[in-house]
Amino acid sequence: MSANLSGIGMTSQRTRVRMVERLRSQGIKDEVVLDAMASVPRHIFVDEALATRAYEDCSLPIGFGQTISNPQTVARMSELLRGGRSLGKVLEIGTGCGYQTAVLARLAQEVYSVERIAPLLMKARGHLREIRAANVRVKHADGSLGLAELGPFDGIIMTAAATHVPEALLSQLAEGGRMVFPIGTGEQRLCLIEHTAEEYRQTTLEAVKFVPLLPGLV
Ligand code: SAH
Repeated sequence: MSANLSGIGMTSQRTRVRMVERLRSQGIKDEVVLDAMASVPRHIFVDEALATRAYEDCSLPIGFGQTISNPQTVARMSELLRGGRSLGKVLEIGTGCGYQTAVLARLAQEVYSVERIAPLLMKARGHLREIRAANVRVKHADGSLGLAELGPFDGIIMTAAATHVPEALLSQLAEGGRMVFPIGTGEQRLCLIEHTAEEYRQTTLEAVKFVPLLPGLV
């Protein structure tokens, strides 16, 4: 962080507290998620030229045609993933800049995150190192296949929009686990899948806007 930015307080703890107050007014209730978002320095995950806008209520470009999700979406998906539980092992698909990953690192014991764009992953790795997120492993891989060798996971979160429910991921979701992801091509909606003893219970939630889940590695 430049001395200049910290000097004018645009990236300070105070700015994060204001963001958290806004998240509360937007209906986020999980205090564990709110605490995590109050502590992760979101501005280090975007380019320095955008750092003063990092806490605004919007998504921002992170290069390679991708975006960091707006704070409300990160909070909402984290809250849904937690479902009031403490999380053991979590899988994230779509590391992007690593911001959601960093929030998850505060909510779970172990976080595995996969990204298909190698240079983005390298940047994310740097950001996560900077905040000393020691319980995170990132991997250059096509996330639609999940990480079978490391599952099952208590939570699976996907931050790119799928066209259908990704079957490979369902089989890596532990019983009692929750999976959260955007689904749809034209209009997208958040989807929550709960793996109960009897079934995979699917709930379709509010409309959202994400980049598409794409195949193959870059
Ligand atoms: N959570 C991220 C959001 C990044 S946007 C953040 O806060 O920055 C979604 C990301 O999903 C992009 O980086 C995109 O490259 C990645 N992605 C899309 N399809 C993927 C796939 N099949 N496997 C892994 N990552 C994928």
